[in-house]
Amino acid sequence: MTQQRLEVGVLGATGAVGQEFIAQLATHPWFKLTWVAASHRSEGRRYADATAWRLLAPCPDDVADMVVDAVTPDRAPRLVFSGLDSKVAGEVEGAFAEAGHIVVSNARNYRMEADVPLLVPEINADHLQLLTAQRAARRWSGRIVTNPNCSTIMLTMALAPLCQFGLRAVNVTTLQAVSGAGYPGVASLDIVGNVIPYIRGEEEKMETETKKVFGRLKDGRVEPHAVAVSAHTTRVPVINGHTEMLSVGFETRPSTEEILAALREFAGRPQAERLPTAPVRPIVYVTANDRPQPRLDVDRGRGMTVTVGRLRPCQVLDYKLVVLGHNTVRGAAGAAILNAELMQKDGLLD
Ligand code: NAP
Repeated sequence: MTQQRLEVGVLGATGAVGQEFIAQLATHPWFKLTWVAASHRSEGRRYADATAWRLLAPCPDDVADMVVDAVTPDRAPRLVFSGLDSKVAGEVEGAFAEAGHIVVSNARNYRMEADVPLLVPEINADHLQLLTAQRAARRWSGRIVTNPNCSTIMLTMALAPLCQFGLRAVNVTTLQAVSGAGYPGVASLDIVGNVIPYIRGEEEKMETETKKVFGRLKDGRVEPHAVAVSAHTTRVPVINGHTEMLSVGFETRPSTEEILAALREFAGRPQAERLPTAPVRPIVYVTANDRPQPRLDVDRGRGMTVTVGRLRPCQVLDYKLVVLGHNTVRGAAGAAILNAELMQKDGLLD
């Protein structure tokens, strides 16, 4: 007998992340997209007419014909994914949670709130317990769960297998794709043939969110991890895929073999539970000296696998390595859908 799929909606459905949600949900075995919403610019229009569709896979016909709704809870299904601009996400997502909706968000607004899980399901699935504190602290009949900023997701995924050696310090430089800035995003005159050494708020997000993701749950709160993180973030003329150059210092310096084994063996609850969006291998280590590269490695595991390479000793900290992940899939829409799948397994969508 086939299970009835749960109706879901997407807030900010016309944007870069919104489009990825629609692509990812098109064939989802548990969730069925029935509602899309965006700004006044798009409201009341046919989805295909309101959206500059930029994915290679065509927009599904049934979604193309949907009428874009306002970002108000009235007609929305209980579970909504949010790809809203952070300028409005705070107010809108709060209103949805207050009205009884379950919001699984990509926006920054609630990420660092003490009672909001900042979830990477392979790493901190237990942080969903914060929802008990959220229910007690807020007058919401719904709830909000967030995923970290896209660069932080790639960073924490690569570091998670190495936590066992005691993470002490991390120095990271990002080379971030233009799709990370949404659509139409960065002006072509600024980015073509260029590198922009500033992304507003991004360094602070990486430096703080990483500590919360690796934090330990104690007495209903997350105690931030003590690791020191220094981030330089840059925008580069790549369409999809954030590359990150890492130097990592450990409490106890592991051998190269120990690091490689930890990366290769890494798996979490999504793999154990065989969640539909979980890649079989969340991390793949590539051995070629000139990999990973966005053009060649970004779609691994349908965009959900993080690719790591170039592990070598570092003269300042202990080791250097290169990390790559798909910013709108593992870094946004795919990550949020994986969060919801985990919540479904834990009975948190009832
Ligand atoms: P985007 O392409 O600019 O899309 C923004 C979406 O928000 C559009 O659907 C837009 O609707 C809607 N919106 C904007 N202003 C609104 C308003 N006043 N009222 C209601 N809706 C409004 O941005 P994006 O890249 O998809 O990013 C969406 C969110 O995900 C952001 O919070 C971003 O920080 C986060 N994020 C993005 C990435 C990435 O790789 N792009 C990764 C991780 C997290 P209209 O089309 O109608 O204007």
